[in-house]
Amino acid sequence: MYKLGVIKGDGIGPEIVECSLNVIRNLEKRIGTNIVEYIDLLAGLEAYEKYGSTYPEKTNVMLKECDGLILGPLSTHLYEGSNMPNPSAKIRKNFNLYANIRPIRSIPSSKFQDVDFVIVRENTEGMYADRNMINAPSEFMPDKDTVLSLRLVTRKASRNVAQVAFRLADERNRKQLVSVVHKANVLKKGCGLFLEECNKVKEQYSHISLDDYHIDAFAMYLILHPEKYDVIVTTNMFGDILSDEAAGLVGGLGIAPSLNEGENFAVAQAAHGSAPSIAGKGIANPVALLLSVQMLLNWLGKRYNDKSSLQASTILDEAIWRVLEESDIKTPDLGGNSTTEQVCDEVIKVIYNLPVYI
Ligand code: ATP
Repeated sequence: MYKLGVIKGDGIGPEIVECSLNVIRNLEKRIGTNIVEYIDLLAGLEAYEKYGSTYPEKTNVMLKECDGLILGPLSTHLYEGSNMPNPSAKIRKNFNLYANIRPIRSIPSSKFQDVDFVIVRENTEGMYADRNMINAPSEFMPDKDTVLSLRLVTRKASRNVAQVAFRLADERNRKQLVSVVHKANVLKKGCGLFLEECNKVKEQYSHISLDDYHIDAFAMYLILHPEKYDVIVTTNMFGDILSDEAAGLVGGLGIAPSLNEGENFAVAQAAHGSAPSIAGKGIANPVALLLSVQMLLNWLGKRYNDKSSLQASTILDEAIWRVLEESDIKTPDLGGNSTTEQVCDEVIKVIYNLPVYI
């Protein structure tokens, strides 16, 4: 059994995490094997109220005993000061989760059909203030009217994320194309180094094509012909922005999953935030987190060569996509009027109707 940490998070977090755990419990029943033991961990606003920190040391210590984590969204826009660090950033950094994998795929109601690509975002460096130093912010205010920002790009992290991108492009169901997105015409050193490492990794994959784009033009191409792309690899902030744009092509953040992946640890985390405007209403779309959990089961299965986990991830994937493609049970963000719970119940119903070996 894998030990999975569970952080419910803020806003809609507890609603979608609870539903996902229910789906996994039923999945385990269906295949007749227990795969996961949950370790409840506190982070976010609830942790701040109880322990005076949004990321208590106890959570960090207990996470080290786990094989992976299901992380609910966090209201980081409310976090201020040194006792309110961003847990997501801390975890990505502490566990060296260098790749954030964000698949994007059309559903029948999407504005664009035939979209099926994955964004691989560098996850530990870049411009984000609390990610690129061990113990300091990377935004400075020498006086009250001036801000200086630093951006970190290393060869090692660039190569790591490029390797993940090529590995994914090499999978059976992919189009074998990697697109590097950068701004090396202006950010010559940082983006230049990133591009250089991607080109080096390409040498190990002669059968995979590589193209590259400037981020500004790419933001347009992605809307003009999104069906063309396969695996998109880019630096942290570009990836963050592009993946929200990409989610918009197919139906919004409610169906945008992500997996934070390192060598020895992975975190299932929906690409969206805590959506405070709909929190507590029971209408948040659980699909982004469910798909993220499916990716985590798949990662565990591959990492430990474990058939049960791979089987569970295959069944879960099939069940979620059948609900998305064939059912009218949809939350309001997708134009329906179903609740979070109804979507999960529908996924569970399909799980019981699918053959165990698919
Ligand atoms: P935060 O500050 O935590 O990032 P936010 O609302 O500014 O919260 P997101 O949570 O990423 O940013 O979401 C933006 C909008 O997308 C939300 O207001 C909501 O309308 C929609 N949204 C995001 N996630 C979901 C979801 N799981 N289900 C339904 N709608 C969602």
